[in-house]
Amino acid sequence: PAGAGTTAQAQPNERSRTGEEQPLVRALNVMKSFHGNEVLKGIDLDVHRGEVVCLLGPSGSGKTTFLRCINQLEQIDGGRIWVDGDLVGFREQGGHLHHLTDKQVAAQRRDIGMVFQRFNLFPHMTALDNVAEAPVQVKGVGKKEARAKARELLEQVGLGDKPSAYPAQLSGGQQQRVAIARALAMEPKLMLFDEPTSALDPELVGEVLRVMRELAQQGMTMIVVTHEMGFARDVADHVVFMDAGVVVEEGKPRDVITNPQHERTRSFLQRMR
Ligand code: ADP
Repeated sequence: PAGAGTTAQAQPNERSRTGEEQPLVRALNVMKSFHGNEVLKGIDLDVHRGEVVCLLGPSGSGKTTFLRCINQLEQIDGGRIWVDGDLVGFREQGGHLHHLTDKQVAAQRRDIGMVFQRFNLFPHMTALDNVAEAPVQVKGVGKKEARAKARELLEQVGLGDKPSAYPAQLSGGQQQRVAIARALAMEPKLMLFDEPTSALDPELVGEVLRVMRELAQQGMTMIVVTHEMGFARDVADHVVFMDAGVVVEEGKPRDVITNPQHERTRSFLQRMR
């Protein structure tokens, strides 16, 4: 039996408070510590299908850690997370939680695309091969089919003319767009973005945000950690302001960003200007 201590009152198959259907992502009372340092102190979040949720907040508030918990790059110490109705990282048996095997974890992660601050492309592979690799290796898609799909995805992110380029021959913004295409190649039901533009030169930020905006318009469910307030205001359906491991305030961007209720949110937004 594993730790994730609290019993969850609400089951993911119930309709949520708002009467909408089951959220794609539900986090309940998620806790995470590193060496006694409590980084997440009970995070609750629902993300509905097709929604874009932006996580805002000062550096060190736990945004990245929370994203990594959803994708099982970190293991939670308490609470529960469901993605598409499946309990993340655990199976329940006889009232106890048991950790999933590595293989089961890998299967859960297959449905979630993640884009990091650093693009992490394979340096020895072309853009096309970077995008085609995982579907072939992980999903067993045929090489020809994977490469055709990869071409389409490179088109979609505005890099249809760069299939043969190696990462070192591409700008940071182009590399990040390849990284987005690579994540999409696995046909994820959820995309996680961890400050995808913060390592870019300012003039390259726009091209990446544009691709993300188009993805949002196509109905992709996205959770985005970002300091780009313009993006959050224009694209997010829901924004969550975190500070020191708790959700301080959340709601529609026009409420939270334009008319914050909490002093901590106000002072953070002022510093962002
Ligand atoms: P944010 O994304 O809001 O900047 P993070 O989730 O990156 O915040 O970090 C929250 C806190 O957790 C920070 O104090 C950070 O130092 C700590 N932290 C994150 N990852 C680790 C880790 N692997 N080991 C120890 N401490 C960590």
